[in-house]
This record gives sequence, structure tokens and C-alpha cells, in this order.
Amino acid sequence: MTDNALRELYQEVILDHSRHPRHYGALEQASHKAEGYNPLCGDRVTVYLKLGEDGRVADIKFQGKGCAISQASASMMTDLLKGRTRAEAEKLMEGFLHLVKGEAAPGLSDDDRETLDVMSGISQFPMRVKCATLAWHTYRNAVEEGAT
Ligand code: ZN
Repeated sequence: MTDNALRELYQEVILDHSRHPRHYGALEQASHKAEGYNPLCGDRVTVYLKLGEDGRVADIKFQGKGCAISQASASMMTDLLKGRTRAEAEKLMEGFLHLVKGEAAPGLSDDDRETLDVMSGISQFPMRVKCATLAWHTYRNAVEEGAT
């Protein structure tokens, strides 16, 4: 695929997530919750989690308003994190934070890399990095300080 075709495909995936967000809505019986705000762009995301007794993300949902990148990233994140352990989620987040800055992301599985790679084009737009990472930081805040 040419670079242009690849870029278009990536834009398509991001638009699809922002128009048809996965796991959208409030989660009743959430065990953890946090709200995130990106003042640079005005993006808002609320992440709801239900952590199972085995430490896995038993369920995850989000609500939000903002640019396509912030909402697509939140949608993609909920897809990826559901069913993961906290340690796995942490690893994914680290990999993602590297990718959006255009850095190598060792430690990601091939599947996860392929999914997250859609966001790596963001690295060319430093102003948008905070849009892409908002949901992930909000997830971390929910886990660490957001017990309901
Ligand atoms: Zn934004």
C-alpha cells in the first residue's frame, strides 16, 4: 500500500470509531470511575470500569464529547482493555504512549501493535497527542483513584 492509501485507511478507522463508538455509555455498578479533560482542545471523557476479583477489567465503558481523535481513541481503548489484567492494560498504555510520539513500542504483541498503529500518525501532529492519550490517562486515574 502506498503511504497515502495507508493514511486514508487509518483515517477511516478513526472516523468509524468516532461515529460508532464501542462500549459507549455509563456503566451501572462501576467499581471505578474518572473524568478527564483536555483543555487544549476541549475534549472530555469519562471512563467507567468494573474490575473483577481476579484483577481483570471485567467491563469498561466511556462517555465523552470532543474531537474525533479523542473519542476514537477512547472507543479503541475500551475495545482493547476489556478482559485484560491491570498489568496487561498498563503495558498497552505504555506502548500506546510511545506510538503516538512516534517512538518504538517494545513489549506490544503483534495484534495490539496492529490495532494501535492506527494512532501512530498522530505523532506528526504534536498538538493532537493529548487528544489521543486523554482516555488512557483517564483510565489510569480511574484505576488508581477512582474507586466508587
Ligand atoms: Zn481533541
